[in-house]
Amino acid sequence: MAIYDPKSLKAEEFINNEEILATLEYAEANKNNMELINSILEKARPKKTAEGTTCSGLTHREASVLLACDDPDVIERIYKIAEEIKLAFYGNRIVMFAPLYLSNYCVNGCVYCPYHLKNKTIPRKKLTQEEVKKEVIALQDMGHKRLAIEAGEDPKNNPIEYILECIKTIYSVNHKNGAIRRVNVNIAATTVENYRKLKDAGIGTYILFQETYHKESYLQLHPTGPKHDYNYHTEAMDRAMEGGIDDVGLGVLFGLELYKYEFAGLLMHAEHLEAVHGVGPHTISVPRIKKAADIDPTAFDNSISDDIFAKITACIRLAVPYTGIIISTRESEAVRGKLLNLGVSQISGASRTSVGGYSEKIRPTDTEQFDVSDQRTLDEVVRWLMENDHLPSFCTACYREGRTGDRFMSLCKTGQIVNCCFPNALMTLSEFLEDYASEETKKIGYAMIERELKKIPKEKVRKIAEDNIEQIKQSNRRDFRF
Ligand code: SAM
Repeated sequence: MAIYDPKSLKAEEFINNEEILATLEYAEANKNNMELINSILEKARPKKTAEGTTCSGLTHREASVLLACDDPDVIERIYKIAEEIKLAFYGNRIVMFAPLYLSNYCVNGCVYCPYHLKNKTIPRKKLTQEEVKKEVIALQDMGHKRLAIEAGEDPKNNPIEYILECIKTIYSVNHKNGAIRRVNVNIAATTVENYRKLKDAGIGTYILFQETYHKESYLQLHPTGPKHDYNYHTEAMDRAMEGGIDDVGLGVLFGLELYKYEFAGLLMHAEHLEAVHGVGPHTISVPRIKKAADIDPTAFDNSISDDIFAKITACIRLAVPYTGIIISTRESEAVRGKLLNLGVSQISGASRTSVGGYSEKIRPTDTEQFDVSDQRTLDEVVRWLMENDHLPSFCTACYREGRTGDRFMSLCKTGQIVNCCFPNALMTLSEFLEDYASEETKKIGYAMIERELKKIPKEKVRKIAEDNIEQIKQSNRRDFRF
């Protein structure tokens, strides 16, 4: 039997089944223990100190107790602290991105994904470099600056050289004032050598969803193909970090297994990265399984309600205060609206999950990976965010200025985001308003920028941001950043 050790590099030791089961038992036994719950909530709360606001986060056991508690009053308190943490460390910024599907060729047998090898009904497609350019132009014309590239796993059709070539093409396209300034990568687990190549290609975050931390289920859900290897998949982030990638993004596909198990596994994975590499995950994604061609989500009987989903998200916010939380267009406007107040810091907008989808006038569905719930345009999403007092940010400065891994975390922990990421958000929003927004969005946007500029604490920084925004309005000068 494997022994739990967060510092181990072996999957079964840092994601240890016995420890997860013991955690669930502990959480169940203490879910009405108000003394313990109060102390956990107190620990989670952001604290003001001489150095600024700090937050200690929670262990997987503590957070699991909160997740198990059904008391409506406790849940309200969890939500309130989640919002406090979000505002204390990220402010009202919401970072915007879009996925870009490069290829749906795949040799795996993932039973929940329509790209699985045996699906003979889905047309297989892989973008040529010319098509990548067209997609990037379409994305730039909406106003996107940050992409997450997606591809199935297929060493013949989508080798690492193909992915690298696509990244190069994406960065090389400048249509009008457009530019993709950060490419995050969501491709299958690979070797240290390949991660090094991705790092050298200038990627932002390497994202890989665990899908499920439950090994037995994992093996059944991934019956064939290289992804079947649970250990290789689970240990991928350690290889990515060994290959020099500082920012990694975790995620679970909720609905495959019991959510309490996944939640504990996810936090143990975050603790493991912190213990081994000195820095936790840059982001955590919370996808839920969706309807897709050849896939029936009701075949998975662990689906979770919107309320449980909100509780999971808020508990993640409490447990890992310095990790971004991402929510995609898998979710509806209503769910996204609720989660934005519970700690989410990054959302996608106007996504198309089909290969080549952005170049088409009407959203194609034949090669889609899953149904998109939120189908609004980027302009509509941006306006909606601002109407709800969230500040859409197209900023990509951190990793371009070398603020990755622990350097980003220290920026976050010292509260310097307000003098850095916050003005960057205002300047990149101004770029969006000038180059891509509708008149109405522009009006709402500039009113917001004017209000928000006053909140920059350092006068010198505020003055520079104001000057830069004036230049963005008056000229084609772009890409100002702190
Ligand atoms: N092939 C890579 C991999 O295996 O990690 C790339 C990722 S895939 C293009 C992106 C993610 O979509 C998967 O990790 C999975 O969690 C999610 N996904 C697959 N099928 C889905 C479905 N039916 N509904 C929602 N998300 C799904």
